Amino acid sequence: MAFTTALTKHVSFSSRFLRDTGYIDGVWTAGDASRTFDVLNPATGEVLASLPDMGAAETRDAITAAHAAQPAWAARPAKERAAILRKWHELMVANADELAAILTAEMGKPFAEARGEILYAAAYVEWYAEEAKRIYGETIPAPSNDKRMMVIKQPVGVVGTITPWNFPAAMIARKVAPALAVGCTVVSKPAEQTPLSALAVLAEQAGVPAGIFNVIVGEDGPAIGKELCGNDKVRKISFTGSTEVGRILMRQCADQIKKVSLELGGNAPFIVFDDADLDAAVEGALASKYRNAGQTCVCANRLYVQSGVYDAFAARLAAKVAAMPVGDGFEAGVMVGPLIDDKGLAKVESHVEDAVSKGAKVLTGGKRIKGAGTFFSPTVLTGVTSGMQVAREETFGPVAPLFRFDTVEDVIAQANDTEFGLAAYFFAGDLKKVWRVAEALEYGMVGINTGLISSEAAPFGGIKQSGLGREGSRHGADDYLEIKYLCIGNL
Ligand code: ADP
Repeated sequence: MAFTTALTKHVSFSSRFLRDTGYIDGVWTAGDASRTFDVLNPATGEVLASLPDMGAAETRDAITAAHAAQPAWAARPAKERAAILRKWHELMVANADELAAILTAEMGKPFAEARGEILYAAAYVEWYAEEAKRIYGETIPAPSNDKRMMVIKQPVGVVGTITPWNFPAAMIARKVAPALAVGCTVVSKPAEQTPLSALAVLAEQAGVPAGIFNVIVGEDGPAIGKELCGNDKVRKISFTGSTEVGRILMRQCADQIKKVSLELGGNAPFIVFDDADLDAAVEGALASKYRNAGQTCVCANRLYVQSGVYDAFAARLAAKVAAMPVGDGFEAGVMVGPLIDDKGLAKVESHVEDAVSKGAKVLTGGKRIKGAGTFFSPTVLTGVTSGMQVAREETFGPVAPLFRFDTVEDVIAQANDTEFGLAAYFFAGDLKKVWRVAEALEYGMVGINTGLISSEAAPFGGIKQSGLGREGSRHGADDYLEIKYLCIGNL
């Protein structure tokens, strides 16, 4: 058996959701993979499972299967596809605890957050089960009487999805649900750190037919990605991950002018104005910054606090952060789990060291926690300035760097001074300022007096180098549809 007791103390061996191979054309298979790779628990460093290291050959087989299955899937009435997705949603909700345990084990986030992620992922599946039936076209008044003009929408075809480890269930659901809803088929490559959640997706048990949804597990992201981008049967790539890899994929897709949706890095500003409700701002900062141990692309990365409330905000935030329980996500009450791996931990550590060496002060935290897991203590830094690494790069950890500002103009200029444009947040009272700032921030999403913005009902996505396309809401379906214009003449 490819699972270890480190996993099965949380999830039973007989779980219907544990799988130790990829999934191609309705068959659980390792393909021709001769090697395996290990999946670790970041809270303990223990090996949870060994999975086949699948690569380009298996990806090609999955693409062939997805391509063959697509026309029949697209031809099914939307109501039938919707019913299957709804069943998938129901299975996720009914089995949320077991799915969350797999997620916490391989990713480390606290169990309650993992459960929240499963329900969040399920909400996308439900949303697109509903949207499947509402893919409307349009009629256009023709400029002459002998013609009629209309628009229909059709699925793009086979979609390759590549997803990261920070939301192992939700990132897949956000892509696969709209793709399947509108009649596309999918070859999905989850992150090598968190493949078990992907394999537990339940689509099979919900009645998704063979070939419609395929999963390739493997460590060689570049090889799998190259096949997905280079194979002309794949009509679209949907990727969530780093801007660096997004650029590679976009280049690889250029040869075939392949469609791409990209959810890339962020560098979210979080602004607190003097007239903000300070308690709400502190709560917002806690939610936005420390959720998932700061490992989300919409996490507050730079906190700008106006001079009049800077010290009060810093003190209140630091008091709450110092009291946050850190530990194994399976321990009751834990709010901050481990970072995903040593590389993630080293980056957070170097950002803090860089800031401190340039004059920042540690109000709380500031250190890695010794032991087997990759833990960093939740941190608040004051006296942070624009020359520090934390100002330019995504820290992806539980560190809140507090910058001081004086005027609205100044903070907008600083907030926009980045190549990224995913999420931004601000807290203010005055309505005029609220509108002015909301419109001036160059970001795809803006949270106003809240630190939590994600919802299946909202269009998630960025501008500038944070990406292309939107996930969630009715706009999320458009990413998987082609517009076809029909013109009837000689009437
Ligand atoms: P992170 O730094 O958060 O791990 P990455 O962008 O490196 O983000 O990884 C996100 C996903 O992209 C993972 O599934 C990873 O395996 C995959 N990946 C990494 N490099 C490539 C590549 N060159 N081509 C395709 N996929 C890749």
